[in-house]
Amino acid sequence: MAVIVQKYGGSSVADAERIRRVAGRVIEKHRLGYQMVVVVSAMGDTTDDLIEKAREINPDASKREMDMLLSNGEQISIALCAMAIEALGFPVISLAGWQIGMHTDSDYGNARITRVDGSRLRAELDRKNIVLVAGFQGINKFDDVTTLGRGGSDTTAVAVATALNADVCQIYTDVDGVYTADPRIVKNAKKLDEITYDEMLELATLGAQVLHNRSVEMAKRYHITLEVLSSLENRPGTKVKEVVNMEAMKVSGVARDNNAARISLTNLPDVPGMAFKLFSLLSHEKINVDIILQSIGRGSNKDISFTVAQTALQQARDVLEHHRESLGYEEMIVRDDVAKLSIVGSGMVNNPGVAASMFEALYRAGVNIQMISTSEIKVSVLIDRAMCDKAVQAVHEQFFGA
Ligand code: ADP
Ligand code: ASP
Ligand code: MG
Repeated sequence: MAVIVQKYGGSSVADAERIRRVAGRVIEKHRLGYQMVVVVSAMGDTTDDLIEKAREINPDASKREMDMLLSNGEQISIALCAMAIEALGFPVISLAGWQIGMHTDSDYGNARITRVDGSRLRAELDRKNIVLVAGFQGINKFDDVTTLGRGGSDTTAVAVATALNADVCQIYTDVDGVYTADPRIVKNAKKLDEITYDEMLELATLGAQVLHNRSVEMAKRYHITLEVLSSLENRPGTKVKEVVNMEAMKVSGVARDNNAARISLTNLPDVPGMAFKLFSLLSHEKINVDIILQSIGRGSNKDISFTVAQTALQQARDVLEHHRESLGYEEMIVRDDVAKLSIVGSGMVNNPGVAASMFEALYRAGVNIQMISTSEIKVSVLIDRAMCDKAVQAVHEQFFGA
């Protein structure tokens, strides 16, 4: 019998009524004869609340202990969802990450899945159980609990679907699909019936939190069709898969990312090896760098600006301050009030003028561009965060109409 893997996000299991609704949906499919594996996230804002609690006790808590704490959110959810299914008289079992053999590396707080041992999952399905799996968590080689990074339950679901050879992985959330922009910011955003893995991967990486970017990456690698659906309404959602249309859309979506900060180092020596030195220092600390801008040399000096995640800003500052002398820069200028706005579309590469059209929309909206970065299927700009909502609206209107 076919396996269906479903995932329900935090808002879909936020209270008892919603948990019962999830139970109902799962049972409906189980009664049709499907083998059901259901991944759930922590209820509502539980993960944020736990982070806040940790901060009250120790703002510098180790990542290992943070994972020990945060993994509890998902465990509460699976037990409660299992109880709701039990109450309706259906066979069910809830399993934590370690119980299903969700093996990860030891990068606490952002662990990567290395292997899923599907044997327990299969045994429980053979026993006709509905299986509830805790999202977001795994276990490393030291038998420690790890978490996969914020939004990581989507990736748990795809990993489980891969281990069980499921054809489809359904991601139930609080919107009824993937839109051309965040429908909470852009009122006239349009729902997409389908989107390619590559476009979705870019959108997710560039800030569209509807899917964890690593879930899309994994779904592409293992040919799992992802379906994003509403847990509150019964409507077709958006399919994320390989081929969409013969002619790719010029622009398929607009994304924004507020988790950005800009660092500029002025008057660095204009000599070979400078960029190597600077960015290897950051990469050694596992700090991801995004947009990079280097000025042309003036005399014997140059400036380098780049962006990092806001959450990595303090660490980046500390490293650069520490190596001030060996890097030889004059001043470090930090802006933490910036945001990244991007457009994504596979058809962009064959349509000159897409970037210009985006810049025109920003100009008309009075938004200044601080940095630009492009690839074959995306254009990103760094702008003032205060202007971001207005900029998203303007750029969306330029490509999709008012
Ligand atoms: P869950 O808790 O179910 O994992 P998330 O909050 O992680 O849900 O993701 C759903 C949210 O993603 C939506 O509420 C929406 O505001 C946001 N979002 C951002 N960009 C998009 C987009 N392009 N299409 C749909 N939703 C988007
Ligand atoms: N509960 C985790 C988070 O809030 C994982 C998830 O929801 O996917 O990030
Ligand atoms: Mg999510």
